[in-house]
Amino acid sequence: MIDFNVTVLGCGSAVPSKMSNPSSQLISYRNKQFLIDCGEGTQMQMLKYSVRHRNLDHVLISHLHGDHFYGLIGLISTFHLTGRKSALHIYAPRKLQTLLDHQLQTTATKLSFPLLFNALEDFGERNIYEDDYLIVRSFPLKHSTPTWGFLIKEKETKRRIDKSFIKQYKPAVNEISLILDGKGFLTKDGTFLENGAITHDPPQGRSYAYCSDTAYEPFISKFISGVNLLYHEATFDNSLQSKAHEWLHSTAAEAAMIAKQSDAKKLLIGHFSSRHNNYELLLKEAKVVFENTIICQEGETYQIV
Ligand SMILES: [Zn+2]
Repeated sequence: MIDFNVTVLGCGSAVPSKMSNPSSQLISYRNKQFLIDCGEGTQMQMLKYSVRHRNLDHVLISHLHGDHFYGLIGLISTFHLTGRKSALHIYAPRKLQTLLDHQLQTTATKLSFPLLFNALEDFGERNIYEDDYLIVRSFPLKHSTPTWGFLIKEKETKRRIDKSFIKQYKPAVNEISLILDGKGFLTKDGTFLENGAITHDPPQGRSYAYCSDTAYEPFISKFISGVNLLYHEATFDNSLQSKAHEWLHSTAAEAAMIAKQSDAKKLLIGHFSSRHNNYELLLKEAKVVFENTIICQEGETYQIV
């Protein structure tokens, strides 16, 4: 199976904590990497955990609260200092472009590589990136400033030809491509074999969803239905539910409700408040609602299966 994984670089929230760095995750698939959010200290976390990022060409920023992007100018600056040449694509709220331009002008930096900005502006669901294997989609979350979640989804491949059929009938290259396009096969003795009889269903495309920051909002589940691995913020425990509602964040139990409603296979929780020094309680509260929950560990890589 092709590697599709997420490395957590930071799983804390806005106020600094000794236990965790602010939000950042690196998604790897084939020879592509996507950084989602880039809180302060993200590049130091990459060094600390020896996280390689030579294929990082895309940075997705969910919203403009500092704990989700204050590390970005530092990372861009390092890319410049180390002579990066390839383009870096940023997907973020429009105002970030103004801020980055200002920071680069103030420091008289003429970047060694193109910085290409893609503004997140609309509030519907939208494809923001696509290649032969993957689609990245943005969708709205419910927070105190415009905020987007992201779904990274493997495209479905063509049907697979049965090995015993190939061995027995030895189809020519053009016949193989017709079968992959859904056609049947005529044998030398004149028997017609339907496509369904000589092929197998392709494996289902895997997907990863990132939902931070957000209040508990059931409409989110329709954007991420059947997701293999869901990262959802779980800033507070049940005792601080009123704070979660006031500040448009979620409790661990609410994150688990979204996992359940979206029929996710697994839930990864993070974005923990500095008020908590025991994440096990958050895990316990989530598991009451959705058993297959795990807790973010910085430096850890999770397979998307
Ligand atoms: Zn926020």
